[in-house]
Amino acid sequence: MDDRVDKAFIRRAVEASDLAALRVALYQATGDPELAEFGPVATLDEADRARLADRAAHLLETRIDDLERRVPSDEELRELMDLVLGVPTRDAHFEVRKKFLCFTPYPFQFERPEDAAPIPEDFEVAIIGAGPAGISMAVQLGRLGVPYVLYDRRDEIGGTWSIHKYPDIRVDTLSLTYEFSFEDEYPWSEYFARGEDVRSYLEFIVDKYGVREHVRLDHDLEEARFDDDRSTWHLTFRRSDGERVERDVNVVVSAAGLFAKRKLPDIPGIDEFGGTMLHPTQWTSEHDVRGKRVAVIGNGSTGVQLLAPVAEEAEHVSVFQRTPQWIAPRPNYGKKVEPEVRWLLDNLPGYWNWCRYTSIIGLMTWHEDFLIPDPEWEKQGGHITQKSEELRDFMIDYIKSQIGDRPDLLERLVPDYAPMVRRPVVDNGWYKALTRDNVDLVTSGIERITKKGIETADGKHHEIDFLVCATGFEVDQFLWPARYYGQKGLSLRDFWGTESPRAHLSMMVPHFPNFFMLYGPNSQPVSGGVSLPSWFQIYAAYVAQCLHTMFEDGHAQVVVKEAAFEAFNADQDAVGAELAFIKDVKSVERNYYVGKEGRLIVNTPYETAELYAMMKAPDRDELEFGP
Ligand SMILES: Cc1cc2nc3c(=O)[nH]c(=O)nc-3n(C[C@H](O)[C@H](O)[C@H](O)COP(=O)(O)OP(=O)(O)OC[C@H]3O[C@@H](n4cnc5c(N)ncnc54)[C@H](O)[C@@H]3O)c2cc1C
Repeated sequence: MDDRVDKAFIRRAVEASDLAALRVALYQATGDPELAEFGPVATLDEADRARLADRAAHLLETRIDDLERRVPSDEELRELMDLVLGVPTRDAHFEVRKKFLCFTPYPFQFERPEDAAPIPEDFEVAIIGAGPAGISMAVQLGRLGVPYVLYDRRDEIGGTWSIHKYPDIRVDTLSLTYEFSFEDEYPWSEYFARGEDVRSYLEFIVDKYGVREHVRLDHDLEEARFDDDRSTWHLTFRRSDGERVERDVNVVVSAAGLFAKRKLPDIPGIDEFGGTMLHPTQWTSEHDVRGKRVAVIGNGSTGVQLLAPVAEEAEHVSVFQRTPQWIAPRPNYGKKVEPEVRWLLDNLPGYWNWCRYTSIIGLMTWHEDFLIPDPEWEKQGGHITQKSEELRDFMIDYIKSQIGDRPDLLERLVPDYAPMVRRPVVDNGWYKALTRDNVDLVTSGIERITKKGIETADGKHHEIDFLVCATGFEVDQFLWPARYYGQKGLSLRDFWGTESPRAHLSMMVPHFPNFFMLYGPNSQPVSGGVSLPSWFQIYAAYVAQCLHTMFEDGHAQVVVKEAAFEAFNADQDAVGAELAFIKDVKSVERNYYVGKEGRLIVNTPYETAELYAMMKAPDRDELEFGP
């Protein structure tokens, strides 16, 4: 044991720990029967919690030096999983949860057998986008020995985490879950990593997994054109000095992200504004709000994240809110990982794994609890489900606790739609910031922007000199502005037409052979159990398996059959139409999850285990290989 570690240190470690994860990791490592006697930690009363904490502290004091990392059998794993939630783990969930636990190396990744067919000479994959998805694809291809180049238009890797530099940008999902399942040693300094730290993490991955030498920055893909005779894609890139770079590759994987095109508000007079106006993607270290009169339009994740730090520095901030959001607290948000918890992560075998598990597993019932309206409950006059309304009550109490002696704000802050049907927003001191003397919440509609400020429907003119349009993205503009042309010169934009984009399993489009999207239409997971970076690995493994079949069977092309694409989308739309995203009509109009035709466009409607079953291996009947 290292010198710092005494009884008091261990006690502090237990106090700061995720007790559910600590209990199950210790039980796995020691087999101590007393630990199995407790029910799920979330249900324990104070006395039992204290008893469990004492037992954990005792085991850490006496046993930590003898504990070894080992891979549990499936039977053992089931017992441990059941211990966490106190109910048996369904078979459908077991496999995906086991992978997310990462007791074996490279879970979710596809490995080729030793006697696999050789990869054709000069075969090359182009990955477009060096954000988390593109990097995940790169690591997967690297492990298979498939030659690839990873392009990005920017001058650094990191995607979202390079693009956004606004104040207090950070993940609002735990750092421990915002990481790839194949890397368990990254020492996050904060529970919710800052944007710059996430970028450093991605730099670390790129170096550790040999991706760096494949990266080509400052390459903006303008056009990709498929040559059916040669089964290759002809790519045209533009560099910042105007140089055009042309390249022929066998396969294109677009990892261009969901947030390709920023959305600016369509408000009369916006071009007349005389002060500084920016979208959060344009925020740089040069921007300074000290002493300024600032307006923030938008209260989504970004507008909420940046308000408190801006309000601390600005002379005055006006927050323009069109639709109230449910803005929730998150334990440990904004906190550094304590040295004692770092010690647990480094020294207690299984603690890292079970922390990942417990932090995401509570969400596994999202569908049942919040998304699938309960007809019985609604018959009695309820809305969506009982749990949904319980959450609503909890959130209202939270808002009240934050606004304190400003009850006048409450009515304007409580949404009229159910929680969880729009993207959950995490509170970074937003409600408290609204109670500051230098902050106003403006809910009267914006009529026009003038040279010096914003005019609202109640006739007021709000004088400002710094305008932040935290108004999100045109999420239906997938891959924008790159142009893709598939078989017979068919343009992807024409294929999608005026409707919102669709894909097969979010990745493939008929008539576009050897082309895949990661984080494509309807890809965003909604039911927890697996975090987005792990989904990127699942998508990447799907692509890798398609390539493997091509190599094995000597084919140069793979494409999804039109009938499979249509059938999948019909099912997807039907399942989506039954969920609260769409059934809660009050949320639909201003919900970026829902496209203009009233169908889901960003999220998958499927529950985690169901989607994983569809994606873990390609169904050959749905695909066409040739020639
Ligand atoms: C502010 C913000 C906060 C977020 N917080 C979270 C969070 O806490 N947890 C979570 O799970 N998700 C979060 N997300 C979602 C986030 O986008 C994903 O987690 C993740 O970054 C997506 O990775 P990606 O690689 O698919 O796309 P991105 O990270 O967007 O990367 C795409 C890359 O593709 C490049 N590119 C695009 N088109 C071209 C082209 N034609 N040529 C060359 N390069 C191109 C871009 O320059 C970019 O670098 C957040 C998103 C935003 C905007």
